[in-house]
Amino acid sequence: MSEEAVGDAADATDGPTGPAVRRLADWTAPDLRGLAAEHGTPLYVTDLDRVRENAIRLRRAFDAGDEDGDADVRYAVKAHTGRAVLRTVREAGLGAECASAGEVVRALDAGFEGREVQYTAVNPPSGDLDIVLDRWRDGADLTVVAGAADTLDRLRSRGFDGRLAVRVNPGVGAGHHEKVTTGGHAKFGVPYDRVPGLLADARADFDVVGIHAHAGSGISGDDLDAHRELVARMGELAREVGDLEFVDVGGGFGVPYREAEPPLDIAAVADATREALGEVDAVLAVEPGRYVVADAGVLLTRVNTVKEGGGDESGVVAGVDAGMTTLLRPAMYDAYHAIRNLAADGRAELPVTVAGPVCETADLFCEERPLPTPERGDLLALGNAGAYGYEMASTYNSRPRPAEVVLEGGTARLARERESLDALTALEGDR
Ligand SMILES: *Cc1c(COP(=O)(O)O)cnc(C)c1O
Repeated sequence: MSEEAVGDAADATDGPTGPAVRRLADWTAPDLRGLAAEHGTPLYVTDLDRVRENAIRLRRAFDAGDEDGDADVRYAVKAHTGRAVLRTVREAGLGAECASAGEVVRALDAGFEGREVQYTAVNPPSGDLDIVLDRWRDGADLTVVAGAADTLDRLRSRGFDGRLAVRVNPGVGAGHHEKVTTGGHAKFGVPYDRVPGLLADARADFDVVGIHAHAGSGISGDDLDAHRELVARMGELAREVGDLEFVDVGGGFGVPYREAEPPLDIAAVADATREALGEVDAVLAVEPGRYVVADAGVLLTRVNTVKEGGGDESGVVAGVDAGMTTLLRPAMYDAYHAIRNLAADGRAELPVTVAGPVCETADLFCEERPLPTPERGDLLALGNAGAYGYEMASTYNSRPRPAEVVLEGGTARLARERESLDALTALEGDR
């Protein structure tokens, strides 16, 4: 275990764990303006050095109080599947938690060993099982997490006898929005009381290695009670069933989307997690996605239209070239993302509604938020865009997906090209 302080906001401002949070204001405006000028907008910018800091801070927090220093941190790949991010996370010592065959393939192709990959199969399409088990037959000793007796049957019938964990429905959920609260919903996992019986059955056919639960996304300081309750239930279950390699209590660690919100004290969350779990003869595993990548990314978008707001207030609407197809979270979850005008120095603030180009009323990044008076051509940055940003991008309205630049060690490189109009119709050909 390392000598260094554990993810502590007060003293970890430099070194491999970095500050506890990176705010939108901490990004260097001239650098971002330069990237937008070179690569166009909308543009995602992802700082791999920050991804690494977040990953290391997590590992240190969870390893610190663990006697063997071997708590397992698995990055929930779905938050950002870019190859450069996956490589960075792997180098930082995290595993890969995958939600689909596509993510499993990406993780393996990015260099994760099979043993480091976990596939959590929620109502898995047959094609997904086939692809994942092909990789397993090719020697990837990955772990499959099954959330239904049906899934076990389908794994059996495909000849799988490898590493298996069971997803538990713990009956408690947490999260920043009902759409991301998964813990208590019947869609996810095997009901708590049925798990011991199911596991006993499963041991005959599989190498049963763990139990797994995920409460939802957006665990904050206030939500810690729900998290504790889930972890305590998992601890109880682990003691009841015995003979497990790990107890995976999920991800969902929140990040401060609002500028004044304090960052999660990840060391305190880790302490609370270990305490709630109690004595178990198994490794504690967590699988955060958002926490690793959210504040490592910004979305850059250019103002193309400025017009009167039309509301009661004397605000304006700023039309921009990114929209719900670029960053879906505001439209889907009413999510708040900080917005900074990278052009404006000393301009007066007024209520600004930032709106995308998509023909949907939900296509707004903010409504009447106090921001510097926008002008056509201004470059805006949206903060915390590294998690569930590019991942949720779509081509609705025939809008090609944006480009992505990654930063590492002071250099920038294009990691994903901007999608072309031709690519949008490539699957149709001239049919
Ligand atoms: C989405 C998800 C995670 C990660 O959630 P975050 O809020 O990004 O930390 C972890 N585990 C499972 C099973 C998930 O579905």
